[in-house]
Amino acid sequence: MRKFRKSALIFLLALVGLYIGWMSIQLIQFKDYKALSETPSSLEITGAYHIHSTLSDGKKNVLKIAKSAARASLDFCILTDHGNPNYESLNSQGWKKGILMLAGSELSVNRGHLVALGFHTSEQRFPQQAESAAYQVNKLNGFSIIAHPYSKTHWTWGPNADYSGLEIINADAMFKKNYIHMLAYSPALLIRPGLPLLKMLERPHTHLKKWDQLNKRNTTYGYYSTDAHMFYKPLFSLLRVHVILKEELSSTFEKAKNQVFDALRNGRFFNSIDAAAPAIGFRFWGESKGNQIQMGESSRFTESMTLHIKTPDSLKCQMVLLYDGKRIYTDSKTLTSFHPPYPGIYRVEVYLQEKSPLDHNCPWILSNPIFLRE
Ligand SMILES: [Zn+2]
Ligand SMILES: [Zn+2]
Repeated sequence: MRKFRKSALIFLLALVGLYIGWMSIQLIQFKDYKALSETPSSLEITGAYHIHSTLSDGKKNVLKIAKSAARASLDFCILTDHGNPNYESLNSQGWKKGILMLAGSELSVNRGHLVALGFHTSEQRFPQQAESAAYQVNKLNGFSIIAHPYSKTHWTWGPNADYSGLEIINADAMFKKNYIHMLAYSPALLIRPGLPLLKMLERPHTHLKKWDQLNKRNTTYGYYSTDAHMFYKPLFSLLRVHVILKEELSSTFEKAKNQVFDALRNGRFFNSIDAAAPAIGFRFWGESKGNQIQMGESSRFTESMTLHIKTPDSLKCQMVLLYDGKRIYTDSKTLTSFHPPYPGIYRVEVYLQEKSPLDHNCPWILSNPIFLRE
């Protein structure tokens, strides 16, 4: 009996040793990968979209969220507290701890949750009916995004309405679906929370398919959403929105707010899983006879049109160009040019290669489309 106990103990210790060894390798590889990054251009700013504070069901107040954002080296945050709209949250906007704190509201409408941003506040409440709410938000100069369409509150798709965006990845929904995948990495939550969080992410197949379908009817932009209620700093490092500005971010709050909302409203941004590797420096643009168009924009299709894709330097990655949702071209060069053969919707997904801790089917970078109309 004593001999059996001794063997069992040795076996157990060996297992623990193996686990610690395996975890150390994962942590070292994770750290090395993250160190590679480009110097940011002053026209590219990064932020986190879809955040809840104590003004609805979040765990931290606005000031503490701004502190977490500063520690995660963000430029801006977009609060989306529940409400119709949430005036307290809207009134909390401003520069805090050096972070541009913006706010919209997450509306509960008859089809699910709809995030309204950039609207002029008025005394009235938004209608319960999703299409009417989107119409009303647009009338107040704002724009709306369908939140977590296939989880939490499932969106019931209705007639064509003027929604501006769709959430492609929502961290809270991914956690609820895949937290089991994180379990083996859970001790790393204390040292490098980015690693277990990365392990819960998978390719959002259904969302991407729906997004491509929606774009055939209406211009719709894709968002990576933190839907943060707690664990703010790790989530701000995990999923990011990179906004491309036309001029440097103003220090005047109202102007800076308009700059960010204007870029989002026009799809001039891309999404990335920055906890896997910083995505600074990605660009996707079109050029025809000296005229440039950016992500999110539409242009008439001409044979002289060239699409250019620049992926971040010093990282091994694979760029995939999609035409109407289908892969049309792939390349691993840092700078790629492509002559689109047909009018249609072109967008880019970038995948990390080699030792990336991210699922190899999950897009590390997701661009917004360039629309080439007939
Ligand atoms: Zn929601
Ligand atoms: Zn939410």
